[in-house]
Amino acid sequence: AAFDLATLRRQAPEVEWLDDEAQRKRASRDFSWFSPVLKRALDCARAEAVARPADQSQALAVIAACARQGVPLTLRGAGTGNYGQCVPLHGGVVMDMSRLDRILGIADGVVRVEAGARLADIDTAVREHGWELRLMPSTYRMATAGGFYAGGFGGIGSIRYGSLEEPGNVLAAKVAPMTARPEPIEVRGMAVRDLYHAYGTNGVLLELEYALAPCLPWVERLYTFAAFMDAARFGHALAHAAVDLRLLTVLDAPIPPLIGLEGKVPDGQCAVLMVVSRTGVEVADALAAQGGGHLAFEQDHAAAFGTARSLIEYTWNHTTLRALRRDQAITYLQSDFPPGQALELVEAMRSRYGAEVLMHLEFLRRGNVPSCAGLQLVRYRSEARLREIIAEHRAAGVYIADPHTWLLDEGGRSNPGQMALKRRFDPHGLLNPGKLTTDGYEGLKP
Ligand code: FAD
Repeated sequence: AAFDLATLRRQAPEVEWLDDEAQRKRASRDFSWFSPVLKRALDCARAEAVARPADQSQALAVIAACARQGVPLTLRGAGTGNYGQCVPLHGGVVMDMSRLDRILGIADGVVRVEAGARLADIDTAVREHGWELRLMPSTYRMATAGGFYAGGFGGIGSIRYGSLEEPGNVLAAKVAPMTARPEPIEVRGMAVRDLYHAYGTNGVLLELEYALAPCLPWVERLYTFAAFMDAARFGHALAHAAVDLRLLTVLDAPIPPLIGLEGKVPDGQCAVLMVVSRTGVEVADALAAQGGGHLAFEQDHAAAFGTARSLIEYTWNHTTLRALRRDQAITYLQSDFPPGQALELVEAMRSRYGAEVLMHLEFLRRGNVPSCAGLQLVRYRSEARLREIIAEHRAAGVYIADPHTWLLDEGGRSNPGQMALKRRFDPHGLLNPGKLTTDGYEGLKP
């Protein structure tokens, strides 16, 4: 359908609509420039208008108006995704959800929020009741509750609670269908997982219920090691110990000076960063000593939290961000090393690629089993070489969730439940079109 903003405005007159070039451009971008492949492909995508609803009824009015006219609708939280999740490949309207930011209730270890609430604000609110968010991306200061569930994975806290997908981390969602008369529906229990990491292609999240964790006395610690495999083995041992952790990151020696840790990590040393409960500190020290590691830095987590000083903001994809700021020829991989063979494969891949692929490990739980993921820094030469490196990892038995595609089903995280929900909640295929190979928009790729 031809885009007609005047009709949209008329049908949703309360809503703030923006359509100048700078605003449309800003609302059409995210952090997909981490990938040179995505940067090239997605840079020119533009929303034709941006809607900024102030509350849920205005959001429903935007949905109804777009559905009536057959206009594509792409949702935006804070726009911090890395895969072009909120980039409107086929124009239409971008709906900025960030004003739907109410915290609706905190009780019995559960918080209910509107989808546009920022994770940092939610965490501050629940902290007053002795709770904290179980899971947060390292972008928690900006990221929204809805954007995290629809486009994220986990991060801080994943060593304890796994990913957002693990049953029990997100308990419910209120979701609106993309129809001319959208009636929101409450989805609870296992069914809520069909909305997880679906890029807003199968419904508009209006509210979410996140399960909380009791707030522990956390401390941030950084250990240094001369040999990378000693650092990796330490991480592996600590991940398997009965020690409360929120974060456990291993960085190969070239990475600390690339990301601004040169003041804390002597040249040529590897680093292990962690957020550990005070009760676990002695065990961490003892295990580190076995591998020749030394404590190089320590700070109170609660005091550093919410600032760029926190070690959190040197981990997960903040490692990549900081490296990219110093060296624009860098990109990254997202990998999972199969438990049981993790250390062997880490060692094999590290020696295979040398300086071309630098090891950055994040320990986490999968199905409650300690496991090891990689966010390796790659010295980018060409797309062909990047594809070769990915294929070689896969052939060696390392799972790769490809961060160099905007296609949900090619990134490896779509499931049949998501697709069934898509047929039900987006019968005309208008939500974030172009992100699924099966959404009928093949051939229209940028
Ligand atoms: P957006 O980018 O705005 O949106 C993400 C997706 O959700 C889009 O597809 C969008 O259409 C959809 N969406 C947004 N709101 C809604 C809604 N209300 N209903 C339905 N769909 C919706 N991710 C991690 O998981 N862990 C990390 O540790 C992590 N670290 C990062 C570090 C850096 C430096 C950067 C740049 C990114 C990182 N990310 C990480 C990715 C990203 O920041 C997170 O996933 C974040 O939670 C996304 O939230 P957002 O509000 O910015 O979502």
